[in-house]
Amino acid sequence: MIPYKSEPLTNFSVEEHRQAYLAALKKVESELGKEYPLIIGGERVTTEQKIVSYNPSNTSEVVGTVSKANQELAEKAMQIADSTFNAWKKVNPVVRAEVLFKAAAIVRRRKYELSAWLTKEAGKPWVQADADIAEGIDFLEYYGRQMLELAQGKPLAQNQNQINKYSYVSLGVGVVISPWNFPFAIMLGTTVAAVVTGNTVLLKPASTTPVIAYKFMEIMEEAGLPAGVINYIPGSGAEVGDYLVDHPRTRFISFTGSRDVGLRINQRASVLNEGQIWIKRVIAEMGGKDTIVVDDNADLELAAQSIVTSAFGFSGQKCSACSRAVIVGDEAYQTVLNRVVELTNELVIGDPVNEETYIGPVNDAGAFKKITEYIEIGKDEGRLVAGGTADDSKGYFISPTIFADVDPQARIMQEEIFGPVLAFAKAKDFDEAIDIANNTVYGLTGAVLSTNRFHLEKAREDFHVGNLYFNRGCTAATVGYQPFGGFNMSGTDSKAGGPDYLVLHMQAKSVSEAL
Ligand code: GLU
Repeated sequence: MIPYKSEPLTNFSVEEHRQAYLAALKKVESELGKEYPLIIGGERVTTEQKIVSYNPSNTSEVVGTVSKANQELAEKAMQIADSTFNAWKKVNPVVRAEVLFKAAAIVRRRKYELSAWLTKEAGKPWVQADADIAEGIDFLEYYGRQMLELAQGKPLAQNQNQINKYSYVSLGVGVVISPWNFPFAIMLGTTVAAVVTGNTVLLKPASTTPVIAYKFMEIMEEAGLPAGVINYIPGSGAEVGDYLVDHPRTRFISFTGSRDVGLRINQRASVLNEGQIWIKRVIAEMGGKDTIVVDDNADLELAAQSIVTSAFGFSGQKCSACSRAVIVGDEAYQTVLNRVVELTNELVIGDPVNEETYIGPVNDAGAFKKITEYIEIGKDEGRLVAGGTADDSKGYFISPTIFADVDPQARIMQEEIFGPVLAFAKAKDFDEAIDIANNTVYGLTGAVLSTNRFHLEKAREDFHVGNLYFNRGCTAATVGYQPFGGFNMSGTDSKAGGPDYLVLHMQAKSVSEAL
């Protein structure tokens, strides 16, 4: 087996790659507006009620119309997932892993087309869409290999009187509720982690990005995954989500999304329902309010560039995104702020079908409203130095926005905005900068730019985040290299793409045989 290595990103300065993306966009454009059924036990089910997926750059363009599950269909899917579990858990883990490797090969062959779907459905600029697809490939390759290792079990102490063995067994039916911001990578990663470990899945993808999830279902079928292992049931959180979270046959819930929804799921999952014989597990990846700290001795150009890409890549719609920049000392503060404003004003806003677009649209009307409200709040809390404008006449466009001189306790320094809004604060020394960085309820990502080894080591110990980066930005964790997940209100620190992730979907069994 070739050792795991992350998938290289596409270099769009190569003409052939550019042309391939343009051709893929054309192909996807010719396929817009189609209808997609639910997939329950491999069967296509078309419903009256629909979810319409719009292009966020151009809301008059329908990306696809997807059938919408109700409680009755969710129950049907649960029964199928529950019975399929008995067969799937017994399939050799090597075979399960091989389905993932095959799926990776298919995704690799179709990467331009899948990226183009993300450009249309999620408003992802080329580079962001390409990274999302590459991360999907990484999850398949990495979790497949992790399963091969886990299938060996773990060594135990032995003595002459008994043989002791330790192995992992599958859990049961998992409900996967996935987000729209990494509608391919996270949807895929959370689903295939559950599947490769021998569980079956009820997949409820985000309502604004169900079409790419349907494409994933087709890929898994083509890779040889049996019917009923993953069941595709887009639907409303209040109707289908709650029903399945509460269901006594649900064994675990794998959720990625906002803090409020994560807490609600956690609370509901803790209630024992009639017929339920286990404590449900919750794997939750929630929000972030992530800080880049710049020391006065840092490479300030690197700092400015790292802040801009971390704050405004995919319009800041990442839970890892930098939404707070804390700079040590007056001089560094002025230099970094000015340079960040300069770089930000150069970012190209527009439809992400155009290669030069850096800032595409935000997700939907709800995101647009929330972010623009925070921009108004920011105008009271800080000094607007870039952006501040928004236009939803055609799509949901918001210019990258920066507020300077913001109090660390201000709302825009404390609350997750999930958009292209960045707040700057000044610290008198490095210790104060770390205190400011830590003063949120979240603990997902953070970065420190410094050339002072003592400061970096202080941050290593005291900067309380799940993903800490030195002398680089705070987004773009790579599967297998930077396992991803956060502390406190950022979730259960499940560390997606890390060596402990698959075990969360299994339980360990210890068997001792007397000799
Ligand atoms: N893993 C992504 C990153 O490191 C962020 C995932 C998310 O926003 O949910 O940038």
